[in-house]
Amino acid sequence: MLMPHCPSCSSSLPLREVFEGGGIVCPLCHSELEPLAWLSFISVILVMLAVQAGAHVAQGSGLNFPAQLVIGGIAGVVVGGVAYVFLIRYRVKAGKGTVLKL
Ligand SMILES: [Zn+2]
Repeated sequence: MLMPHCPSCSSSLPLREVFEGGGIVCPLCHSELEPLAWLSFISVILVMLAVQAGAHVAQGSGLNFPAQLVIGGIAGVVVGGVAYVFLIRYRVKAGKGTVLKL
């Protein structure tokens, strides 16, 4: 339900292709799709916040710097993966000559 969907035919998109990033082709209706840029941007911000938060918690627990980096990295990967799957939305790729961009 919260998974990425094709805006053209509403079928679920294969996660493997979603994680490869960039544009994908819907397996059902073969529309060329591209992720909305601002959602990718928000995902990146969330990852950075998660890394900071993870490192901060590790620091508060008295762990040394390498451990803080590891925990921050894990937090970033987990949040990034979740954010990507739940936030990312696609639109049908605009044909050539279209000026509208978002
Ligand atoms: Zn489709």
